[in-house]
Amino acid sequence: ATPTAIMVGTGMGARNGVLIRNAEVLERARAMQTLAVDKTGTLTRGAPEVTDLLPAEGQDGARLVALAAALERGSEHPLARAITNRAQEQRITLPDVDHFDTLPGKGVSGRIEGRLLQLGSPLWLGEVAAPLPPALAERVEAAQAQGRTVVGLAEEGSVIGFIAIADRLRDSSVQAVRELRAAGIAVVMLTGDNRHTATAIASQAGITRFAAEVLPQNKAEEVRRLQDSGEIIGMAGDGINDAPALAQADVSFAIGAGSDVAVEAADVVLVRNDLRGVLTAVELSRATLGKIR
Ligand code: ADP
Ligand code: MG
Repeated sequence: ATPTAIMVGTGMGARNGVLIRNAEVLERARAMQTLAVDKTGTLTRGAPEVTDLLPAEGQDGARLVALAAALERGSEHPLARAITNRAQEQRITLPDVDHFDTLPGKGVSGRIEGRLLQLGSPLWLGEVAAPLPPALAERVEAAQAQGRTVVGLAEEGSVIGFIAIADRLRDSSVQAVRELRAAGIAVVMLTGDNRHTATAIASQAGITRFAAEVLPQNKAEEVRRLQDSGEIIGMAGDGINDAPALAQADVSFAIGAGSDVAVEAADVVLVRNDLRGVLTAVELSRATLGKIR
């Protein structure tokens, strides 16, 4: 393609909210066969809300929220926002936290009045806390089966309850997945969330292939695994934890409202926070450089 054609192509992208960083991106977008997409904040809005409090036997829901929100004040994760918002709505006073720590893909921890508190994925709590009573485990699974993300709070190694959080799909996601498939591009969802929640969200989005419980450092590995087949692999994400996978992919897309780290790592920025922008980039590349298949 001539430089003029490429300039026209990238200019048209920009007018449609699809910022293409350089001309080589178009070449790879044209050849993309599979798109890996992050779940939270990419397929979903990333503005989750607390839907249920599941205190363990003898525990109090308000205290669960107070301790969880106190820990989450130190986190920038979308789930943290849901929990601190809930505490604010209920006008709950938050205790002070010492020794705060973030474990990407797992959760957060800290000490409140000298007691160790750990808040995060049920999988992680399964490693660091005592086993759950079966009745509580069943309630967790039921919430996950509805597509909710469930995080648990352990105090001194015993789980004192769970908080269920719902994050809706972006309205555009279902259509984006359908259109990508129609354009010959397979879609694979990658998420750090557990497999029950992942199954529900994937099915709502019309996605049949996904990998769940993927730790942040392993998202890039998942992309590399997809590349092993020899295919040209795209990746779309929004979070700091997606940056290594965006860098690994042959062509990468960041949700415009995502973290700065993701936006800087990506070849294409989707300014309208709409995954259909991936298709816009592919169509532009095909129009500018010609079809491959
Ligand atoms: P995703 O890939 O879906 O964007 P992450 O990799 O960021 O998700 O997180 C994976 C899981 O780790 C979350 O579903 C949650 O259970 C747990 N987690 C991570 N950070 C936090 C946090 N700040 N508070 C509570 N749970 C967290
Ligand atoms: Mg995300």
